[in-house]
Amino acid sequence: MKNITIISAFIIAISFGQAFGQMVPEPRATEVWGKEPVKVTPGENGSPPSDAIILDHSAWESIDGGENKWDNQDGVMTIKPGSKDIRTKKSFGDVQLHVEWRIPELGPEFKDQDRGNSGVYLQQFYEVQVLDSYTNKTYNNGQAGSLYKQYIPLVNATKPAMEWQTYDIIYTAPHFGKNGTVISPARMTVLHNGVLIQNNVSLLGPTVYIGAPAYEPHGNLPIYLQDHNHKVSYRNIWVREL
Ligand code: MG
Repeated sequence: MKNITIISAFIIAISFGQAFGQMVPEPRATEVWGKEPVKVTPGENGSPPSDAIILDHSAWESIDGGENKWDNQDGVMTIKPGSKDIRTKKSFGDVQLHVEWRIPELGPEFKDQDRGNSGVYLQQFYEVQVLDSYTNKTYNNGQAGSLYKQYIPLVNATKPAMEWQTYDIIYTAPHFGKNGTVISPARMTVLHNGVLIQNNVSLLGPTVYIGAPAYEPHGNLPIYLQDHNHKVSYRNIWVREL
């Protein structure tokens, strides 16, 4: 009798173990195979990765539709004051954008918004401000790295005039419904000289100078660089479509 009880318990234990074993999933059940990310060769020291579109002087045109009138020397584009904004010939949606910019040497008479002002506009309407904000005082939602008049940068990572600075921008385009409703707003993440200054913020609409921002529906649009009458320079601009 005793032996029969022991054998029964043994059989029950084996059955329970088998059932329990079937309930525990294999590690492989949660592994994804056959969806390999596209291979990209990273650039060295800010140079473009292998899948980037290079935005050199020839990639831009004047906003009047004519040729890019900004100066072009040794891969450096410098604003000719009064020559108007420039825009990429190609239109973009979601992107990763790398921009290097440099504020010129300016006298103390140049202050506030009148000191190295330019700007990088994603899809024509959404400006990441370019300004000398090393020691220059201005309204904080208009300093370098602000999403103009909407978001103050988290910190001020600005370098002095005449030093090259970087913006690395992750941009998600807005989406609109049939009757112009905003399904999802534009979003931006910005690193300034490698420091996070905008963390996936949702834009309220175009970054307008006066009044409240309000969205107008649009599709893919060019990137703009602003001529604000200062000799700000740009180089090594590249973009990856996301
Ligand atoms: Mg500006």
